[in-house]
Amino acid sequence: MSMDYSLPRGTQDILPDEINYWNHVEQTAKHIFSLYNFNEIRTPIFESSNLFNRVISESDIVKKEMYTFTDKGNRELALRPEGTASIARAFITNNLSRAPQHSKLFYKGPMFRYERPQAGRYRQFHQIGVESIGSDHPFSDAEVITMSYRLFTSLGLRNVKIYINSVGSDTCRPVIEARIKQFLASNLSQLSENLQEKFKNNPLKILDSKDETLQTYLSGLPDMREALSQQSKDHFNFVISYLDHLNIPFEYKPTLVRGLDYYTETVFEVVSEDLGAQNSICGGGRYNNLIKNLGGPHTPAVGFAFGMERLIMLLKKQSIPIPKRPVLVYIAALGKEYQMECLNIAEKLRNNMINVTIDYSKVDFNGHIKLAQKMQADYMIIFGEKEFESKQVSIKNLANRHQDDVPFAGITNYFQTILGDAHV
Ligand code: ATP
Ligand code: MG
Repeated sequence: MSMDYSLPRGTQDILPDEINYWNHVEQTAKHIFSLYNFNEIRTPIFESSNLFNRVISESDIVKKEMYTFTDKGNRELALRPEGTASIARAFITNNLSRAPQHSKLFYKGPMFRYERPQAGRYRQFHQIGVESIGSDHPFSDAEVITMSYRLFTSLGLRNVKIYINSVGSDTCRPVIEARIKQFLASNLSQLSENLQEKFKNNPLKILDSKDETLQTYLSGLPDMREALSQQSKDHFNFVISYLDHLNIPFEYKPTLVRGLDYYTETVFEVVSEDLGAQNSICGGGRYNNLIKNLGGPHTPAVGFAFGMERLIMLLKKQSIPIPKRPVLVYIAALGKEYQMECLNIAEKLRNNMINVTIDYSKVDFNGHIKLAQKMQADYMIIFGEKEFESKQVSIKNLANRHQDDVPFAGITNYFQTILGDAHV
């Protein structure tokens, strides 16, 4: 048997070069979420398969894409394909319904789906998501949508579109489905087998299809808002009026339904035309029955999740700058006999929160400067015989080549002065 040590299909390594994007997005999200008083929750990466089997309906592709396994104790487990089910489970497990306030939570981490890998589509991908659990007020829908908009605009993204729709409550669902069926019935035989199957089992999902031929049949679809109950209509109209009030640009999209079936009332999606085929960055909506269906108390909730990989693709595509990493000082000992002294300088700078790298293999100027440039260091401290004699080091600015002589005792102060408050 030959061993295969290659990267598993549909996964990727995130290398140090790339990680600044990840940290930047994670930090920005955390920051924005805390402005709205959302707090972080971390749940296991695997859960009992039953959890997802209960939450994700048979007609969802996600169900077929699940990574399930049996552990050594014969437990049926699944790597989580999405976050909401786990958060709902944690809400029940930890009796969060007893908390004085409704639970406003966010999470981040890897998700797993056995999909066909392509640009923007992986088998292990990463999401950041929020769940606002315990309020059925349309303010909560508007709040999470606003928060997603604030996040994407603070990251500097351009041309992102928010689409919203309502799929109504349990009572409206059959009415909506009947209307879709009625509307498409005369063309049923023209539809693909797959769509005919959806027609039978889950007509709402037809709207979500990317099937080209379907688009012509769908063009005259009557306004589905008419099929909503008065209560659902009111809810949706309130959400829209709050978004208008907050000047959040959005578009009503009557064919928007989400991939996962647990949504009720408001659904929304954030897309970018700059992404190509996989243009959906963020999806979310209200799920008023999910927690009850899992055996918890009746608890309305609303949330969203976005994909890190697609978001970062978009940041790059739009050439959006991310914050530079902190200044890096490279210390060059010109001879082994000065390495101990250099080590002292390095530790002293680190004590003062300055990032320092030091290499012990190089002992000549040319070797050091090549390496310092490769490492994209900002400054180089040079310590050789001359410096030892004069008790001052040379500090070279590697961007503009300017060089200063600085007494040993003044090195920390030198960097603190030029770096100002920025890095502290
Ligand atoms: P799509 O229609 O592109 O398959 P989805 O409806 O399955 O998306 P959700 O389950 O709503 O996506 O997940 C929210 C976000 O997670 C998506 O908008 C996307 O950014 C990201 N995402 C989903 N699946 C993948 C994947 N396989 N690889 C990378 N990102 C993904
Ligand atoms: Mg999908």
